[in-house]
Amino acid sequence: MTRQAKAGRPLFDRVAIIGMGLIGSSLALALARNGLAGAITGCARSEATCAKAQELGLVDSMHQDPAAAVGGADLVILATPVGAYEELARTIAPALQAGAIVTDVGSVKQAVIRDVGPQLPEGVHFVPGHPVAGTERSGPEAGFAELFEDRWCILTPPPGTAAAAVDKVADMWRGCGSLIEVMDPLHHDKVLAITSHLPHAIAYTIVGTAMGLEQSERAEVIKFSAGGFRDFTRIAGSDPVMWRDVFLNNREAVLEMLQRFTEDLTALQRAIRWGEGATLEDWFRRTREIRSGVVEAHQAGSFDPREADPTPSGAAAQDKADHPEE
Ligand code: NAP
Repeated sequence: MTRQAKAGRPLFDRVAIIGMGLIGSSLALALARNGLAGAITGCARSEATCAKAQELGLVDSMHQDPAAAVGGADLVILATPVGAYEELARTIAPALQAGAIVTDVGSVKQAVIRDVGPQLPEGVHFVPGHPVAGTERSGPEAGFAELFEDRWCILTPPPGTAAAAVDKVADMWRGCGSLIEVMDPLHHDKVLAITSHLPHAIAYTIVGTAMGLEQSERAEVIKFSAGGFRDFTRIAGSDPVMWRDVFLNNREAVLEMLQRFTEDLTALQRAIRWGEGATLEDWFRRTREIRSGVVEAHQAGSFDPREADPTPSGAAAQDKADHPEE
């Protein structure tokens, strides 16, 4: 199945996507829909994921061996949890063709540059990236082609990266509907620590706290979850391995944000304890302004109070609306 470019030659002749989960499968669909790749090869660890990706028609071929997947590729996209990157980069290095571009989608950037960069041979370009788009779902069936539309993709090329390679990766994301920002990796990790990693840490904690309640209270938490808890359960339903790797690989920035958060939580506790209504009201007015800013920037999605449609198409539409990740 060779894919035709929308107009003329595709941006890349052969794209290899290592990791066929939510992001890998969404990218495969978006690349194909927008005619950005002549052919797409995929790679996953398990036979089940390989079979599912082929059944869904996400790729032209699937491999369990990453080195086999990247053979002949002019673009290689790492799309597994970031903890697997170093070993993967070492494995694919000898099979990469000269002039190929390696990029990634990992949610942290300094650790990725540390782990992947040194493994790659001379003559291969490395352009780290992070699409700030996602849902709490995982696996090849979770993907949808529209995931990246109107969402930011942050590129963090190390100094000395060939400008042409950065431009080509940026063009690929633009072709999938994304907006591009180029950023220093340290800055990326700090910004994402507050906008994405801390919210996930809080969601995992709140849901963990509820789990620790007595059996009877826990049942009521689930029954009456529409009172705010529901949104936390959605975020806390995100992939455990992916999020383990995010926290382990953005330790400093996450701990710094958690420290600030703890201090602010203590201030909130004090205001509640001492009945400082004006403090609370002023605080919540200011946070509401932040929410308005997010809406004005078209990054809010929509909140639909009806329960998500459980059918696959409904779930995808709800995902697109909610964008709880990142
Ligand atoms: P996912 O749905 O859990 O899928 C992970 C995929 O990686 C699976 O296909 C898995 O294969 C494969 N895999 C894992 N280890 C592998 C290895 N050693 N070799 C080959 N394949 C391997 O993950 P995801 O949510 O798409 O996340 C992928 C990356 O995107 C992560 O780095 C994450 O930080 C980043 N990201 C995620 C989101 C989000 O919202 N989820 C948003 C932006 C960026 P098997 O199924 O065979 O195990």
